[in-house]
Amino acid sequence: MQAIAVLQGNELIYMEIQNIIERIHDEVKPLSAYGKVADYIPALKNVNPDQLGICVQTLDDKTFGVGQCETPFSIQSISKVFGLTLAYKALGGEIWQRLGKEPSGTAFNSLVQLEYEKGIPRNPFINAGALVISDIILSRYKFARRELLEFVRDVSGDARVDYNEDVARSEREHGYRNAALAYLMKSYGNIHNPVEDVLDFYFLQCSLEMKTTSLAKAFLYLANHGVVPFSGKQILTPSQAKRLNSLMITCGLYNEAGDFAYRVGLPGKSGVGGGIVAIIPKKLSICVWSPALNAFGNSLAGIEALERFTTYTKVSVF
Ligand code: GLN
Repeated sequence: MQAIAVLQGNELIYMEIQNIIERIHDEVKPLSAYGKVADYIPALKNVNPDQLGICVQTLDDKTFGVGQCETPFSIQSISKVFGLTLAYKALGGEIWQRLGKEPSGTAFNSLVQLEYEKGIPRNPFINAGALVISDIILSRYKFARRELLEFVRDVSGDARVDYNEDVARSEREHGYRNAALAYLMKSYGNIHNPVEDVLDFYFLQCSLEMKTTSLAKAFLYLANHGVVPFSGKQILTPSQAKRLNSLMITCGLYNEAGDFAYRVGLPGKSGVGGGIVAIIPKKLSICVWSPALNAFGNSLAGIEALERFTTYTKVSVF
């Protein structure tokens, strides 16, 4: 068991992270029985819901894990953070000409707002926004598939991260709502590449598979003013990293973002594969994975685990 030093206010406290996540694991694991795995993507519907992995990765390179923390899972919408990072790196604030920065208050795959708001998605984390981001990446990166994968391998330090082409194909075959969103935006001129190419790239991005340990590590640049701590590479400027974290607080969990902020108090991003990653600036990142989802499409046990983590450690951004 390792203990790490965490600065809280003016007081230096020592927490036994491993003990805390083991306790949380045992407490919240039974909750997975009350959720439901995402079945609208056929390739995901056979995942065993009774799984829970938690990994905490500190900026000073300590890793704490429990449960299925080394099992690769479909990161789905968590990948939107990587996509946004690449688009933001390439275009800076220009991306906001094509999408907003406001919480949507609607489901991640909702179509209703998009018509009223003339094809401009509310934010980059709902599906419509992530499709615009995919379009930007296709325009700005010549080898988009390869460059995205290399980027994720680089920031996670895990060369085995890969796309799952079966999951991408499965979603492609059933992704009618995403196709509807993309075509609607195309009609407003907010998709520049062929819709089919944008959808292919978006589904591929969502199909990335990672384990909680790699995903927690991959988010460290967001906890560290845009710099990957173990390589020293500057991914985003400190200001861009701040803004991306702010977007995760307000929009990272879609129409459950307010409740998540209230309960957990951290910037976070979820995916329908059951993963959630959250960061504590200048300290650590934490990834939880439990595939059974609540009605908002977010991991039921995952949110509970994160709420308990900030409650038991008394550390959040507030
Ligand atoms: N690939 C999924 C979709 O487009 C991602 C959604 C999610 O993880 N919330 O529906």
